[in-house]
Amino acid sequence: MTAYAASVLPYRADPKPAVPAASAIGAAPLHIVTPLLDTRIGSLRVGLKLDNLQPARSFKLRGIGHLCQHHAARGVRRFVCSSAGNAGYAVAWAGRALGIAVTVVIPHCTPEFMRARIRALGAELRCEGAVWDEANTVALQLAQQPETAFIPPFDDPLLWQGHASLVEELVQQCDSQPDAIAVAVGGGGLLLGVLEGLRRVGWRDTRVLAVEPEGSASLAVSLARGSVVELTAPRSLATSLCVKRIAPALIAACREFDVVPVTVSDAAATDACVRLAEEHGQMIEPACGTALAPLYAQHAALAGMRQVVGVVCGGQVVTLGDLARWQNEQRLC
Ligand SMILES: *Cc1c(COP(=O)(O)O)cnc(C)c1O
Repeated sequence: MTAYAASVLPYRADPKPAVPAASAIGAAPLHIVTPLLDTRIGSLRVGLKLDNLQPARSFKLRGIGHLCQHHAARGVRRFVCSSAGNAGYAVAWAGRALGIAVTVVIPHCTPEFMRARIRALGAELRCEGAVWDEANTVALQLAQQPETAFIPPFDDPLLWQGHASLVEELVQQCDSQPDAIAVAVGGGGLLLGVLEGLRRVGWRDTRVLAVEPEGSASLAVSLARGSVVELTAPRSLATSLCVKRIAPALIAACREFDVVPVTVSDAAATDACVRLAEEHGQMIEPACGTALAPLYAQHAALAGMRQVVGVVCGGQVVTLGDLARWQNEQRLC
């Protein structure tokens, strides 16, 4: 694997607001090509795909940027979404880049720093309901207005098409086809995008570690059952992965590939966040630590493998204080 120089590409961290929609449509994607960091974990050669370096700080900009550009081309005047976290931030970012108004409906539990960051991008924030499901109901109603598009966080084929670009970039960045790729799973939009990417580049036998928190393993139970199982109360520090129901398309898509569901503890996920910060200077949230935990633990599903890729999906729902606390907890073990 060759490390990829990020500086070669323009870092579009600060798009000009109010670009006339017509000129932005069909233009370059909103996401950037991210570096693949070549490192070692024990005997494994690991390529860390640094999607935390996306301008909106997570992989979500790939799919959401693609979907928002699609709707902009149809002439919509407003995007509505219902996430307080990285999806809401990515929609706000895309709206600003495309010159389209954005409403993000958040539940009351959203931390103040996320509200401030989403507002700072010029999005309108509406606080509705105690939890995401309630905020989502309001967002769906708001999206009934004319010239308005609802932007879902994970269940839309256009999102998966955008996420697939991550794997297409790996073709240029890896010396050869990786033996495995580790991906975090919430609703499964990222995983569906990675599978779509593997299909596009013909890497059908690359093993996929689909990693979930122990307290929110909706994919693992659904695959075991063979149909979508709804969790009653998903719970994890990896809040971006706490989703009750996976995207139904995942069941068939996982059968087509060598997908191994893996569950990890919150402690393993936060340890991975601390390790990535200390070893590589990257600050990520527990959802992303979840994907990396099996690599650090040299999970049995990786036995005998030489080259693997870890998707550093990023996420900004983390503070320096969180990292310091997790580091202390780690020392106590
Ligand atoms: C949204 C998100 C995920 C999970 O993505 P899904 O498409 O819901 O599976 C993982 N990590 C981060 C940082 C996210 O923001």
